[in-house]
Amino acid sequence: MSYFAYKNGVLHVENTPLTEIANQFGSPTYVYSKAALVENFSAYAQACKANGRDESTSLVCYSVKSNSNLAVLNLLGRMGSGFDIVSGGELLRVIAAGGDPRKVIFSGVGKTQDEMRLALSHDILCFNVESTAELQRLNDVAGEVGKQAPVSLRVNPNVDAKTHPYISTGLKENKFGIAYDEALATYRKAASLPHIRVVGIDCHIGSQLLDDTPLLEAFDRLTELVDQLSEEGIHLHHFDIGGGIGINYNNDQPVAVGDYLTRLFQKVDQWRQRRYQGAPIQVLFEPGRSIVGNAGVLLTQVEYLKHGDGKNFAIVDAAMNDLMRPAMYQAWHGVQPVTQRAGAPKTYDVVGPVCESGDWLARERALAIEQGDLLAIMSAGAYGMTMSSNYNTRGRAAEVMVDGDKLHLIRQREAASELFALESVLP
Ligand SMILES: *Cc1c(COP(=O)(O)O)cnc(C)c1O
Repeated sequence: MSYFAYKNGVLHVENTPLTEIANQFGSPTYVYSKAALVENFSAYAQACKANGRDESTSLVCYSVKSNSNLAVLNLLGRMGSGFDIVSGGELLRVIAAGGDPRKVIFSGVGKTQDEMRLALSHDILCFNVESTAELQRLNDVAGEVGKQAPVSLRVNPNVDAKTHPYISTGLKENKFGIAYDEALATYRKAASLPHIRVVGIDCHIGSQLLDDTPLLEAFDRLTELVDQLSEEGIHLHHFDIGGGIGINYNNDQPVAVGDYLTRLFQKVDQWRQRRYQGAPIQVLFEPGRSIVGNAGVLLTQVEYLKHGDGKNFAIVDAAMNDLMRPAMYQAWHGVQPVTQRAGAPKTYDVVGPVCESGDWLARERALAIEQGDLLAIMSAGAYGMTMSSNYNTRGRAAEVMVDGDKLHLIRQREAASELFALESVLP
């Protein structure tokens, strides 16, 4: 169900008109629906349960980089979520939000020694290791602190996720993961290292996947490896299929999370029956976008309308520094006027005030709008605020979580003085 809908011509989030949010908190502001977050996370949790899984046989590790606000992490953590992190900073966020570090998995190609030490000190669930050099370093660091690091290897199954090249990560030519052909040798190496404990296997083949076929293919590829490993006496405790399920941005029809999980669990069960007398393996998921993407919008106000020769611009107070996805991936976001107006629409490019031609949020949209109107940039809950910057010395947007008719400011708008507070001039 959509928690973003018009009532009496005004766009609401749950029971709250966006006009009220603009009045109270100004713009640009990221606005999230708590009910949408709960519903999207529950789609995973319920599908696990419906397929006979409990926490020992399934764990959803929310991808923190998609939206890392403490209120989001806290809400998901309270529903039992684990977390997929890609930096030490994200681990500190999870802990600050009350998340359980023992349900944290640590992904990423460039983990530093300090990040490894931090994660080891909090006894995280697993390091998703992406290279032999990283494996060696992790072994050394774990040895120094007298621990064994739990490790999964991120294996590149070399399947085509058929998504945007910038968000496709499962092909040979990507920087991510260990090549399929090198995986066995790397596992043998891992098993031989004294401060490494091999616990799992993982992959993450890309993002905004509308179809689960590539994921199921990746699963099949990796099970072959797991079987070979088990013949060599290397037994894995978990299988992490990564994230990547897409959302509806523009008449997209992503696979339903429940359908995908059911198909995957059926495959898991058949495989375990065939090879391991039904002995279970814990299945991990790393969803980001499919949990937060459509739970948030970016609220912005029209500063100026500029009508030109064959081209009209709506210049708004949000910009590429607030929402980078259009500039970076040519991403499409819906644009909805907060208050519907009668009158003939004109075609606009919706652009920000930043001094870059790449600073656009939407192109060629039919809108009936006036200066001062509010717009909602839709589907902005994932990779919105987390990718924002202070380019042009613009303070980052406020963030508000709506819960029915209650409003919670979950991040204050940044003031300009805060942006240069860490800087100093020469003596
Ligand atoms: C970004 C990322 C995810 C989340 O991807 P979504 O497409 O948002 O579900 C999961 N795992 C890893 C390793 C990632 O880098």
